[in-house]
Parts: sequence; C-alpha cells; structure tokens
Amino acid sequence: MKAEILTIGDELLRGEIIDSNKAFLAERLLRIDVETRFQSSVGDDPADMEDALRRAARRADVVLVSGGLGPTRDDLTIDVLAKTFDRKLVLHAPSLAAIRDFFARLGREMAEVNAKQAWLPDGAEVLPNPIGTAPGCLVLAGEVPIFCLPGVPRELERMMDEQVLPRLEARQAGRTVVRARILRTFGMGESNLEEALSDIAQDGAVTLGFRTTFPDNLLRPLARAATVADAEARLDAVCTAIRERLGALVYAEGDEPLEAVAGRLLRERGATLAVAESCTGGLLAERITRVAGASSYFLGGVVAYANTAKQALLGVPADLIGRHGSVSEPVACAMAEGARERFGADFALATTGISGPGGGSAEKPTGTVCIALARADGTHAGRFVFPLDRERHRSLTVQIGLDWVRRTLLGAPLEAPTLMRRPA
Ligand code: ATP
Ligand code: MG
Repeated sequence: MKAEILTIGDELLRGEIIDSNKAFLAERLLRIDVETRFQSSVGDDPADMEDALRRAARRADVVLVSGGLGPTRDDLTIDVLAKTFDRKLVLHAPSLAAIRDFFARLGREMAEVNAKQAWLPDGAEVLPNPIGTAPGCLVLAGEVPIFCLPGVPRELERMMDEQVLPRLEARQAGRTVVRARILRTFGMGESNLEEALSDIAQDGAVTLGFRTTFPDNLLRPLARAATVADAEARLDAVCTAIRERLGALVYAEGDEPLEAVAGRLLRERGATLAVAESCTGGLLAERITRVAGASSYFLGGVVAYANTAKQALLGVPADLIGRHGSVSEPVACAMAEGARERFGADFALATTGISGPGGGSAEKPTGTVCIALARADGTHAGRFVFPLDRERHRSLTVQIGLDWVRRTLLGAPLEAPTLMRRPA
C-alpha cells in the first residue's frame, strides 16, 4: 500500500509554521508498513486543492489530508473534496450535536459558523474528533480511501491513532503484519553501536534501524510476520539480545525520556536528588521537573553562575577556585557536595563548563565541562571536552548527569560517553 500525504494551508507554503503533520503521519504509516510515496502541500486555493486531490487519488492507494476543516472561510477542504469527487454536502446531525456539546462543555454558545463543520460529503464515513470541533471524514474516490483530518496537530495525532490506523490495518488484513519497537540508548556513538550489534538481527525476520535524536541514539527493530504474536515474539528475541549485549546503555523502551527513568528509580529507592548548576543554568532542574511527580524525589537546585555564588550558596572554598579554576573537577565536586549537604539529599549533581562559543583557553578549550555526582559513599567526577555548539553542549551535559543518577541506582558503572569518539 502506498500513501500520499497532502497538507493544506497558506501558512505552510509561506513557511510560517513547520509542517510537522507530514512527519507525524508518515512515521505512523511506517509503523503499519504503509510506505509514504508522495508528500504534497497546497495553499487555501480551491483549484490547487482540487488538482492535488485528483493527483493523489490517481497515484496513491491511500490519501491522508490535513487541515482546512475549520469553520472559517479559508477552510475549504470539505467543500473542495465534495466537488472534486461529485458528492453533495449533507448535514450530519450527530456531528452537529457533538459540536454543540463541545461548546457547552466549555460553557460557551456555539457560533452559527461552526455548524458548517457538520456538513460532510454524502456517503462519507465520519471520524469523530473528541478534542476539537471539526470532525474528520473518510471518502472513497473509487477504491482509494481519502482521510481528512484537522490541521491542529494534537487533534490530528489523536484521530490518526484512534480512527485512521485501525481502519487501514483492517484494510490490510491477511497481509504481512509489521511491528516495531524503539530502544533508547545513551552514551555510545552510532557507528560504535552499529559495530557492537553487527551480528544481531541478521536472519532477515527483523531489520534493525538506527536513528539519532541528540544526544540519544535510538534502535528500531522492525519485524514482519504472518501474525502479531509472531512479530512480537521476534521483537522480544531481538530486544533481549540487544539488551544483553549493551547492558545499561539501553535506558528505556518506547518514548520514556531519561529524566523519567532516573526519576522512577529514585522514587523506587526512596532516594532524593538536588542539583548545583553553573554551565547548564537550570536546564538540569528543568528536565528533572518535567516529570509529573518529581516532587517525591527532587529537593531543589542552585544556579551558581558566578564564583561568588558558588562560594556563598554552595560553600565552595575561594582558594579551591583560585587554585583549579571554576571549570575543574575539584570545583564540580565541591559544588555537588555543597548541594548534597545543604539540601540534605542522597544525591547531588553539579555541572561547570565552557559551553562556548568563546571562553576557552589552551589548557581548558571551549567545550570543556566537569560534572560531579555526590553520593553517601563519595563523589564521582569527570572532565570532558565536547566540541559542540552551546545548545548541544548543555543538553549533552544534562544527559550525562541524569545518566549517572540512573546508573548509580542500577549499580552500573558510571562510564564516560563514547558519543564524541570517532570510530576506530
Ligand atoms: P481549525 O478548526 O483550527 O481551523 P483546521 O482543520 O482548519 O482547524 P488549519 O486551519 O489548517 O486546520 O490549521 C489549524 C492550525 O493547526 C494552524 O494554525 C497550525 O497552527 C496548525 N497546523 C495546520 N497544519 C499543520 C501542519 N501541516 N503541521 C503542523 N501544524 C499545522
Ligand atoms: Mg482552519
């Protein structure tokens, strides 16, 4: 089955918003082995839309359309769709009731223009929108299903998962089943990973894909089989083999971010965490507190950017800074220990570095960073040089800190990441 994704809206063509719907829809289609062969976009122009719809229905087996389902005069998708495929618009009473209901729940009266959204092409299958006003619809152009979804990403995403994918999977019944998983790794570069796993998933039943979302590397085993159970069993086997090979390098499966994994382990152990940040400027605390429920293990943090702040707020001795400089392992250790003591935490992380673009010296080049983790049994510190832009330097530093917490709680070694190492 080959798909075309058609996104509609002037703001897309003008570059005012990034067309994230295309990427989302294509990725979801891939999960059920539907290949996206074409992606196109047109503005809010009826002739262009008609042209694009006809072309898509001709060259693809399934068409996904995003945008233009709203109540305003620039929302033309349904009108044009009906005209293009010779359908009349008919009032869909349950959708009208759902739209009225939607506004009633917000304590508002429905504006009359919103009634327009309940008029759908004759014979269309209605795709309910549980979190917005515009219902989607499915129209058949001959054999080709055309799914129309709202442009608002969260509405589109939910309707894709709940309405579109099950219908497409049903259409594929009897064909090969495809299932994929994501294993999230941190600490090893892509080439090293590839090398470490070179003998895994070589029998053809599962293919292993690699993808980077900095600073993580994702592994994506994908299995094709006659049944879901078969595909899942093959994935189980490959995932087990990968985890055995990589050990603690795999930190999660699916979408769980590192801060959530570290947080879960802290909560399970009843342990607490504090942070002392210089170069990461609060980013570490921000990541930790993204996780709902972080208050059960995160006590707080200090952003100590100036040397005077490191001394006053964390008790770092002035002469230590004088002797080693503020970007040094001894100072990182003193920051972590100061935070651990002052917050009364089981663990404390500290960061101090030169994220750039300037500020380096021969002895401490730009990109130098020192990270420390204070624990009851002593303080672990590391000094790294990451030749990265400022944003990625900070995000890698945060990731290492979170990973050290996770590794400590798992009893795994606090390895230095090989992310920056060129393959031998
Ligand atoms: P509405 O009822 O909000 O008008 P709609 O179905 O008419 O919904 P659009 O008007 O096309 O959708 O888009 C609504 C908003 O959704 C846009 O302002 C934009 O922020 C976002 N959006 C639209 N298309 C895309 C896209 N392809 N990728 C990412 N965001 C999009
Ligand atoms: Mg709109």
